[in-house]
Amino acid sequence: MTRIFLASANAKKILEMQRILAEHVPDIEVLGIGDIEGYVEPVEDQPTFAGNALLKARAGVAATGLPSVADDSGLCVDALNGMPGVLSARWSGPPKSDERNNDLLLAQLDDVPDERRGAHFACAVAWVQPEGRERVVEGRMDGRIIREVRGSGGFGYDVVFVADEHADEGLTSAELEPAEKDRISHRGRALRELAPYVAADLASG
Ligand code: IMP
Repeated sequence: MTRIFLASANAKKILEMQRILAEHVPDIEVLGIGDIEGYVEPVEDQPTFAGNALLKARAGVAATGLPSVADDSGLCVDALNGMPGVLSARWSGPPKSDERNNDLLLAQLDDVPDERRGAHFACAVAWVQPEGRERVVEGRMDGRIIREVRGSGGFGYDVVFVADEHADEGLTSAELEPAEKDRISHRGRALRELAPYVAADLASG
């Protein structure tokens, strides 16, 4: 059994990672923050998704000695010059609240006409090995911000985002089956791109 560490406390992300990696690496076990006693998460103070993902994966290697993966993601809105970006999780201030973040975003875009409501989700995934080798891949999902909250699946800004792939039906990411979101999402794309590298690096020791 090959063990790697995913610098996340999110059980859904850990399962998703395990599922995608298992297609490339047989017998892989993904440990999360909850499996490491006393794990202290680093402050995500970098200006880019890639910078924060690397910072988290390096901290994972330092704490566990295991090859480590970390992701960082967010929503980039064209009419807000790419914001909230790396500030997505805390856009409306503490304590973190998806509901308040969405209310604030919709209010900020109130005057923005339909043709200028483009946005994309971005995700960087970093893979760091104990001997120092590092790799970062990025994925994105393009779409637009609607004018109300819709759907009950997903998390974060899914309820206000319609991906280009579902523009015809107008389905938000929160109205998609999880497997369909994985197929088109920024995180799914980045993880699937990374998986063969992880497999090759682990196989070559
Ligand atoms: P994190 O990288 O998991 O910390 O995500 C940062 C923030 O970006 C989340 O709290 C959400 O607000 C937003 N976000 C990232 N990915 C998604 C997604 O797939 N759907 C909706 N919101 C997302």
